[in-house]
Amino acid sequence: MNFLEEKILLDGVIKPGNILKVDSFLNHQMDIDIMRQMAYEFKRRFRGIEVNKILTIEASGIAIATLLGDLYDVPVVFAKKSETANSTDDKYVSQAYSFTHKKVNNVFISKPYLHATDKVLIVDDFLADGQATHALIDLVHQAGGTVAGIGIAIEKGQQQGGSMLREEGYRLESIAIVESMDWETQTIRFREQPKSELTNTQLALG
Ligand code: 5GP
Repeated sequence: MNFLEEKILLDGVIKPGNILKVDSFLNHQMDIDIMRQMAYEFKRRFRGIEVNKILTIEASGIAIATLLGDLYDVPVVFAKKSETANSTDDKYVSQAYSFTHKKVNNVFISKPYLHATDKVLIVDDFLADGQATHALIDLVHQAGGTVAGIGIAIEKGQQQGGSMLREEGYRLESIAIVESMDWETQTIRFREQPKSELTNTQLALG
């Protein structure tokens, strides 16, 4: 088991409706040591891939994206959400249905912050049906940029987002993939992932 899977087992709470609550370390209170380890893990998994921008969506992705932006030494952009994207700024706009809030959000980025030359690493806290990630991909494509990869902290493998993105050919790395979870027994099973040959500590030193 990796550090994030261990943390989920220790502090995650399964709610009815296939919701995993991780408010104690990711979605409300933030455990900076875990965030830092996630940033190193993404850097390790995407090594060799050229990245000149980190992109996430407000709010919970911002902390991971910030630490990752620090490691890559590149700008971090977060897409904003609103019910009506009616400001007059020139912006790229997409839509995403929110699994947790059960409503469609407009998702937007002002045009000066995304370019055709951008090689974008998208990161987010959760991947469920892939709505948020697809909206971010759409924004990158509207700007003419390239999606270098997608890094997700927790993928819910029972929902379609992960398989869709992999079928579409994106390089998707999820640190923990929940295969199944049961709120009555509070048990979680994770998908097996390949063992890494380079530790995050080695990466930090090297
Ligand atoms: P998707 O857009 O992939 O359907 O859902 C991803 C978004 O929904 C994430 O950004 C996250 O905010 C939220 N989300 C989906 N499932 C869960 C869950 O089980 N727990 C939490 N905390 N957030 C979730």
